Amino acid sequence: MTKQYDVIVVGAGIFGSCTAYHCQRLGLRTLLLEQFNLGHSNGSSHGKSRIIRYAHTDPEYVPLVGDSYSQIEELEQKRGEKLWNKLGLLWAATGNQVQSISGHLSKHNIEHEVVPGNKIADRYPQFKFDDKWTGLIDPMGGVIYANKWLSAYQDEFRNLGGTIQENEPVISHDENDNGTVSVNTKSGHYTTNKIIFTVGCWITKFFPNVNFEIKPISLAVCYWNAKKEENSQLLSEKNFPVLIAKDLEKKEYYFALPDTDYPGAIKLVLDDGDALSGDMGHPEKNNQDFIDKPGNFITEHIPVVDGSKPYKVDQCKYTNSPDHHYLIGPVSSKNPNILVGGCGSGSGFKTAPGIGKALAEMAAGKQTTVDVSFFSPSRFEKSV
Ligand SMILES: Cc1cc2nc3c(=O)[nH]c(=O)nc-3n(C[C@H](O)[C@H](O)[C@H](O)COP(=O)(O)OP(=O)(O)OC[C@H]3O[C@@H](n4cnc5c(N)ncnc54)[C@H](O)[C@@H]3O)c2cc1C
Repeated sequence: MTKQYDVIVVGAGIFGSCTAYHCQRLGLRTLLLEQFNLGHSNGSSHGKSRIIRYAHTDPEYVPLVGDSYSQIEELEQKRGEKLWNKLGLLWAATGNQVQSISGHLSKHNIEHEVVPGNKIADRYPQFKFDDKWTGLIDPMGGVIYANKWLSAYQDEFRNLGGTIQENEPVISHDENDNGTVSVNTKSGHYTTNKIIFTVGCWITKFFPNVNFEIKPISLAVCYWNAKKEENSQLLSEKNFPVLIAKDLEKKEYYFALPDTDYPGAIKLVLDDGDALSGDMGHPEKNNQDFIDKPGNFITEHIPVVDGSKPYKVDQCKYTNSPDHHYLIGPVSSKNPNILVGGCGSGSGFKTAPGIGKALAEMAAGKQTTVDVSFFSPSRFEKSV
């Protein structure tokens, strides 16, 4: 049976769920297809927490985050549900990185503060940094309640009349002579005007011939307890900021959040991982280095936490483009009807509402609210 939709969004992670919601909101009849059950943990969007922050090394991200903050405020009011917690972000880095981020934030009039490394403990007694480090405090930083964002966008999409079909993997897509496009799944064939692929690490399956190499990896997501029970309260949302720490000499990058996922245990993760298998599976066990390095970082810089052994290790998939920036827009300039939203790497959850809105606006033939041309996949076509 052939069914007609204006847009089909493939993949119901946070990118696809936000995109489908915005398409439907713009009046496009939208179908969202997901290969697994909704809320599964095989991709990148599962779990309870993610970081939101204005601070970024590249200024192009700042307006996208701004758009996400506005959307979340609207959604919180509409649903009467708390979707994030403003805790403040501490960005600690060696070298001059903090000064450069501070420059971008100042250009966008975003409030922030720069503090010498050896003064960070005056603000946050959990941490120990010396004068090789500089801190930037972004007061709008905080923790996203990730599973709640995901369900909120899916619920609101359905409330607007959108259709979600889970456990329905897309197998292939076709470009038809009359300008439409089609999607073939295990159980159906759908014709539509636009397809938007938001398939996370599975993007490599759909576009093997496009001129960009994508390398999905598996991260060891480590959780760590306080050394002493009486210090556990220092790890709660009340006391622990969200943290980005970049040791640029050692080329080691970490991020950390309070004990939102598991009470009494912070999440602190090295921003690196193992290659995924050919069928996009995690390794049975991540390389021990991805557990030892965060442990050593903790021992050196967060002395109230026990870095000798994680309390728990989960896994999550990261998808990076060659330049580590997102892909937002038509996958090839030759066909504007096949779009992609992907390569969210370690920062895409917070920007997904803004990205979803931009993709929906493109699908509707409108100008995007936020200029996302920096993230256009066409940047990789130039080198063909
Ligand atoms: C450990 C970790 C920490 C992170 N921390 C942060 C953070 O602090 N802040 C932040 O903003 N971001 C963070 N991120 C990044 C963020 O989580 C990701 O960028 C984001 O979740 C990517 O979402 P996605 O929808 O692109 O991919 P996914 O969540 O993987 O969604 C893709 C979906 O497509 C479906 N799919 C694939 N193929 C098909 C098919 N053929 N048919 C139908 N469906 C299909 C998949 O099943 C999946 O559900 C982190 C990521 C990780 C792994």
